[in-house]
Amino acid sequence: MDAKKYQTIGQQFGRRSWAEPWKIKMVEPIRLASAEERRQAMEGAFSNTFLLRSEDVYIDLLTDSGTNAMSDRQWAGLMLGDEAYAGSRNFYHLEAAMQTYYGYKYLVPTHQGRGAEHILSQAAIKPGQWVPGNMYFTTTRQHQEMAGGTFVDVIIREAHDAADLHPFKGNVDLDKLETLIKDKGAQNIAYVSLAGTVNMAGGQPVSMANVRALRELCDRYGVRIYLDATRMAENAYFIQQREPGYADWTIARILKEFCSYTDGAWMSAKKDNLVNIGGWLAVNDAELFETLRNLVVIYEGLHTYGGLAGRDMEAIAIGIEECVQDDHIRSRVGQVLYLGELLINWDIPIVQPVGGHAVFLDAKRFYPHIPQDELPAQTLAAQLYLDSGIRSMERGIVSAGRDPVTGENRHPALELTRLTIPRRVYTQAHMDIVAEAVKAAYDNRERTRGLRMIFEPKYLRFFQARFEPV
Ligand SMILES: *Cc1c(COP(=O)(O)O)cnc(C)c1O
Repeated sequence: MDAKKYQTIGQQFGRRSWAEPWKIKMVEPIRLASAEERRQAMEGAFSNTFLLRSEDVYIDLLTDSGTNAMSDRQWAGLMLGDEAYAGSRNFYHLEAAMQTYYGYKYLVPTHQGRGAEHILSQAAIKPGQWVPGNMYFTTTRQHQEMAGGTFVDVIIREAHDAADLHPFKGNVDLDKLETLIKDKGAQNIAYVSLAGTVNMAGGQPVSMANVRALRELCDRYGVRIYLDATRMAENAYFIQQREPGYADWTIARILKEFCSYTDGAWMSAKKDNLVNIGGWLAVNDAELFETLRNLVVIYEGLHTYGGLAGRDMEAIAIGIEECVQDDHIRSRVGQVLYLGELLINWDIPIVQPVGGHAVFLDAKRFYPHIPQDELPAQTLAAQLYLDSGIRSMERGIVSAGRDPVTGENRHPALELTRLTIPRRVYTQAHMDIVAEAVKAAYDNRERTRGLRMIFEPKYLRFFQARFEPV
């Protein structure tokens, strides 16, 4: 695969440049704290960017989760909230939008993605079962483990190599999966946990050919496939751009076709669906649906609100329609590519091809002198903030946590610092500032030392862990 193919945005779209398909109607001032203020803030946060106050951050690339700018139509939709306890009209709008664009039969709203993961894991995993998937995600695997399942990574080998230019690094290794099914017995496989795009691999997509072949394989063994649809609209864009035969398909058509090969999906609406809070679960099986909508009453709320206000469901319904528009998704992913291209041109090591929602800095190559046990990706996140007030997050050894059986630290092949781009929030000028900040940290790399963990929470430690310089 030719790296340049993904670098030149002008080439990709057959024109000089792209621009956002919107104009700005409301602004929120941001401010760069002084170097001394940043030093104090980072010390107070124990070098964990999750523990910083937002006010102390200049450009916030911690996450694309719930950080979206809503459209004027979504804000107007908030005023149409029907806050009835049961049967809100906004629920029916959300259900119809999901059915139209994702194509599943039944909908259960949840307060956010992990609420959906919790309920699905409890309903679909029996203790002792195996859950194969295309690389783990933090909250997903946690819920699968808490339901008594064991996650098994069946992503293709290329996904673990930050420099490999495979166009669909999110693909499932079908041989690996079939070996596992034969080994454990199909009845001991809870379901295949498929994600598009794959966050932990660097926002890498799954191809249509792969999901189709996966469906055939799973049908042979009677195994179900559930999709983490959190960034599936972005995945659809990569299929349109890279997979032969889909260049003339709309994002909406690709999305629905892809989902049709799966048995259901869970969603963090805080990502693709362009809202600040919300999630949902959707399935085709009527019996499973009854179980899910019974469970949701215990953990989230009645099955027609699932922990959301009526107005939140309205904003998601409108966001679903906006997120599958071709011009939206082109500029969304295009902005990420723009930042990635600036860094590639300075020979700064990043995961390639550039992913859909974030640029992932390859901390192992960035700081070759810092061993993984001294947390190179966490160190880089701290350095970027100190240098420029930019907030990023670690996706390496700290995020990977400990093996539940041995209690040892997992050592993932990928040690990454994620610059996550919120949707419709920052401009190209902000991306230039970010690129220059990364360059400054890179130029200063030899003088940078690692970190050690001095406080480690039991679950999902990266959120609240504390560190100090070694
Ligand atoms: C964010 C995310 C989740 C969890 O969703 P929340 O809304 O944060 O609870 C699940 N899967 C993926 C891929 C995500 O990025």
